[in-house]
This record gives sequence, structure tokens and C-alpha cells, in this order.
Amino acid sequence: MIAIVLFGKPGAGKGTQAEFLKEKYNLTHISTGDVFRFNIKNETELGKKAQEFINKGELVPDSITIDMLKNEVEKNMDKAGFLFDGFPRTIAQAEALDTFLQSINLKVTATVALEADDEVLVQRILERGKTSGRADDQDETKIRTRYEEYNEKTAPLIEYYKNQDKYYAVNGIGSIAEITERLSEVISRF
Ligand code: AMP
Repeated sequence: MIAIVLFGKPGAGKGTQAEFLKEKYNLTHISTGDVFRFNIKNETELGKKAQEFINKGELVPDSITIDMLKNEVEKNMDKAGFLFDGFPRTIAQAEALDTFLQSINLKVTATVALEADDEVLVQRILERGKTSGRADDQDETKIRTRYEEYNEKTAPLIEYYKNQDKYYAVNGIGSIAEITERLSEVISRF
């Protein structure tokens, strides 16, 4: 099995690309953001815990997120691998992921990053907010908080994966099909 981390800032197009890549490579797509939103909608305990953080544009605490991710992986061992979207977002999450995957005889195969300029992305998110129904997409202050969280807590992962020779950056500007092609060029190597 392979385990691909789809990496990028909010609005970079991870979710859009994951929809294509999961079909193409028969992967289980795990978007931690989607799992949180599902739990919030269904008013579960997990959803109640996560909601206040998400609504402010802050990251949900690691312990909550890591437990949830493990649970999602264990439920879905039936495909050719995993496509992680929006996870890991902190060094602690990346380390927990390594330890966990090792315990089930897997490892992170590669991290593929979608690169794009911040201002382009903020505009994209505001545009998406008109239809996504996501409160965290509609308010520029919350979007800026998400970027601050990214810069402070998530950006250090680039070095983390570069140090392991697992970091592949792809230009995230272009048509959806072009970007799928760029990502596929990396994933097909494994
Ligand atoms: P996303 O859909 O990936 O943009 O995630 C939306 C929100 O869910 C984020 O702004 C965080 O509040 C929360 N979230 C998603 N994934 C994680 C994660 N790996 N760690 C902490 N919080 C997360």
C-alpha cells in the first residue's frame, strides 16, 4: 500500500485534486477537514469538540485530530493505499503518523505539495465561500487566521519531509486537469 500526503495551503486545491487522484490510483481519500465537518453536521461529541476551533480558523488540537485520523485509516484498509488531505498539519501530527503507519507496516510514501501564491489563494477561498457554506471560508479575518496557523505550525513540515527526501512540489496554478497531470507524474513513480 502507498500513503500519499497531499500538501498545500488552504485553498490550494487539495480537495479538488483528491477527488480525481483517489479514483485514478484506487486510494482511500481522508480529508480531516471533511471528517470534522461531517461530525459537526451530525452533532457528534467529536464535532462539538472541534467546532469552536474550526469556526475561529484555528487548528483543532493534535490529540483529537490524531485519534480521528487513526480511526479513519483502520476503517479503510481495503484499497491500494491512502491519500491524506489536510493531515498532517503539525510536526506532532507528522511524527504520530509515522509511528502509527509503522505499527501497521506502512510508511509515508511521498508528500506532494500544491504551490500557489497567498493572495491568489485567499481570493479563491472567498470565491468558494459563496457556495461552500463554510463559515471559515466567508470571513477574511478567519481566512487570515488559517494562513497564520499554516505559516506557524504547518510550514515546518516542508523541512520535515525534505529531510526524508519525500517532498515533491508541484505548481498549483493551472487548469484542474493540468494540475492532476502534474501530481500524477509524481505519484506514478511509486
Ligand atoms: P480544511 O478543510 O482542510 O481546510 O480544514 C478546515 C479546518 O478543519 C481547519 O481550518 C482546522 O480548523 C480543521 N482541521 C482540518 N485538518 C486538521 C488537522 N490536520 N489538524 C488540525 N485541525 C485540522
